[in-house]
Amino acid sequence: MAERVSDRMGLLHISTGDMLRAEIKKGSELGKKAQSYIDQGALVPDEVIIGMIEQRLKEPDAQGGVLFDGFPRTVPQAEALDKIADIASVINLEVPVQVIVDRVITRRVCPNCGAVYNTKTYDKDTCEKCGATLITRPDDNEETVLERFRVYEEQTAPLIVYYGKKGIVHDIDATMPIEQEADMICQVLGEK
Ligand code: AMP
Repeated sequence: MAERVSDRMGLLHISTGDMLRAEIKKGSELGKKAQSYIDQGALVPDEVIIGMIEQRLKEPDAQGGVLFDGFPRTVPQAEALDKIADIASVINLEVPVQVIVDRVITRRVCPNCGAVYNTKTYDKDTCEKCGATLITRPDDNEETVLERFRVYEEQTAPLIVYYGKKGIVHDIDATMPIEQEADMICQVLGEK
């Protein structure tokens, strides 16, 4: 959804999860540090994420509008972000936990180009865009997803109050068909 919306709105899509997976693939120190947290469904420490975002936002392609995906995930991350960027809108996707679990365990991703599929709507084993063999993310199993949801409730849900006080949260029903949901989000972001 973040990819669709950022494409339509001309925003740079920054996903901290994708950035961490790229570091793991490279075998960097940061990747090694992040791996065990991700495998357990825990959050990577704030200072690692904040440092990574500070660097990313200095790059030339990040000087226009940005759509953050999966970030911030804690109040300290949001406070750090407030010091370096103006946040215009927050999209809160609302979906029952059982639907999340079902979507995540049927998700397949391309390890080469990052394209995302779901076995219910795409039954091939190879990526439509680049031909690589699709995989299931190691953290997309039911046990880890439930732990990620618990961590979400504990550490990320307070952000709805944090940004709610600023009056910039838009609640979106994320059980809608994909295109309709993308239309709703683009509308609240002011698509012309
Ligand atoms: P995602 O691709 O957004 O589902 O993220 C996958 C995993 O990466 C999460 O379960 C966390 O372990 C880690 N992660 C991604 N973004 C963050 C973040 N902003 N703060 C802490 N951990 C993160």
